[in-house]
Amino acid sequence: MYSTMPDIPLTLVRVLRHGATVQGASTVSTWNGRSFDRRSYAEVGERTARLAHALRTRLGVRTGTRPESEQSVVGTFMWNNARHLELFLTVPAMGAVLHTHNLRMPAAQLIYTIRHAGDEVIVVDAGLTGTLATVLPHLPDTVRHIVVAGRGGRAALAGFTGEVHDYEELIADQPVDYPWEEELDEHTAATICYTSGTTGNPKGIVYSHRSTYLHCLQVAAPNRFDLTHRETIFPIAPMFHVNAWNIPHTAFLTGADLLLADRYLQPVPLAHMIELGRPTAAAAVPTVWTGLLAELDARPYDTSSLRRGLVGGSACPPALMAAYRDRHSIELVHAWGMTETSSLTTTALPPRRVDSEEEWSYRISQGQFPASIRFRLVDDDGVIVPNNGVATGELQVRGPCVTSAYHGGVDAPQRKPEADFTPDGWLRTGDVGRISPDGYLTLTDRAKDVIKSGGEFISSVELENALAEHPAVVEAAVVAVPDDRWGERPLAAVSLRPGSGAEPADLRDFLARRIESWMVPERWTVLSSVPKNSVGKYDKRGIQDQYARGRLD
Ligand code: ADP
Repeated sequence: MYSTMPDIPLTLVRVLRHGATVQGASTVSTWNGRSFDRRSYAEVGERTARLAHALRTRLGVRTGTRPESEQSVVGTFMWNNARHLELFLTVPAMGAVLHTHNLRMPAAQLIYTIRHAGDEVIVVDAGLTGTLATVLPHLPDTVRHIVVAGRGGRAALAGFTGEVHDYEELIADQPVDYPWEEELDEHTAATICYTSGTTGNPKGIVYSHRSTYLHCLQVAAPNRFDLTHRETIFPIAPMFHVNAWNIPHTAFLTGADLLLADRYLQPVPLAHMIELGRPTAAAAVPTVWTGLLAELDARPYDTSSLRRGLVGGSACPPALMAAYRDRHSIELVHAWGMTETSSLTTTALPPRRVDSEEEWSYRISQGQFPASIRFRLVDDDGVIVPNNGVATGELQVRGPCVTSAYHGGVDAPQRKPEADFTPDGWLRTGDVGRISPDGYLTLTDRAKDVIKSGGEFISSVELENALAEHPAVVEAAVVAVPDDRWGERPLAAVSLRPGSGAEPADLRDFLARRIESWMVPERWTVLSSVPKNSVGKYDKRGIQDQYARGRLD
């Protein structure tokens, strides 16, 4: 039997129209260093229309309504701010493709991704033109226009051979209505993101309108962010990292107010933003929550609005969750996801009717999958292991918001099967863990971070979590280093609370009381701050490199 329902596409046009009209009174607030600059979603809607006209008529951005269309790629080199939100909405809704660039990516990778995606326009925050200027001589010919958002910064772009425009001048005289593509095919590309490429070149993942729309519903759902137009959401996660977990689009879908930190990602301004902007939910990687905690512990701030903070991107130490709950009444909810899975995928809300000790074991897991995702654990022999909470294997997933290939690039549009996908089309996540009978995922490690010592596995996450419980430890990352006798042994890189007086020997004793003694690291390095990668996670490859070169002891 055929259903009687029409095949109406799920697109970001609907998200934009809904946010700008039905939710038009909601607001986006961008921190300017002292206070918030506020704009209503209705105003954002008018500005997106003006921007779409300018991109099409003045910059020649090519739009398409079908997956086979020749769509222009519009790159952004921007912090979290209202203009970036305008681009998030405008570019996909007009039928072009948005490409958010990681501001901290090494120059060679930045050039690679611009070339690979085929960017034609790059919009850059005025304060970032100096950084973009370093790659100007290597930009491919496809990049014909650079648009500067904000005052100043033009001089740095003097070497650019294409045209340089000012964002506000560009949109100033444009009409405030735009004929958005209502019948755009939902499978058409909407945005493209690249992984941070810790090994090899970054890999491109192309999200469709449909996958983004479905992911936004997933993000807004009660057992994820629980977003309505009565909430205020603060994505501290950068808009250049997996589109800030699709929170900007989800804000327009739900009418939740948005707070954006612009470039002020340090603990002190973040604490002020929470006090003044009164968010009800926030999202960040563990290292950001760690830095913020030290500030909230040191000085009094009113954080009473903040009920829930999502934490993901790497494993969150239970001690961090406990500190937020006990000292600041903020519930950190653990979440897992990847660029390949459109970001936020599992969340660790405990079931009802569990006692407080049991509840804790659920909270520190990576959580449950949404209904749309199929998941399985596969052992080294390719055998699917049972979800009994004990057997471990590599996590593989498949679903409408999970990529089934990597972008072939402008020079090689033919998609090739990759080692990262199984022959039956599942994504191999590279994450190792176990799943309980009631569907809670617990990751023990990334396959490439596992420490294999004398034939036995040591979980770096277990050691990091145990170290985070020591009162003197601020940050802890544990990596595998070569060892003549055991093959590999753990190296612990830690930063300590100033004046704590703690020594590695104290930390070793502390660990020996919590984990099996053969797992306790012999090698320690105490740093003022543990190095982070371009998306704020501990830079484990960098720590291993420095150790190999004798720069750590
Ligand atoms: P990259 O691979 O470039 O770091 P991603 O942000 O896509 O970029 O990283 C995804 C990976 O981050 C996952 O495969 C997993 O290893 C790790 N990760 C994300 N969230 C968690 C979490 N809650 N616990 C443990 N690991 C996590």
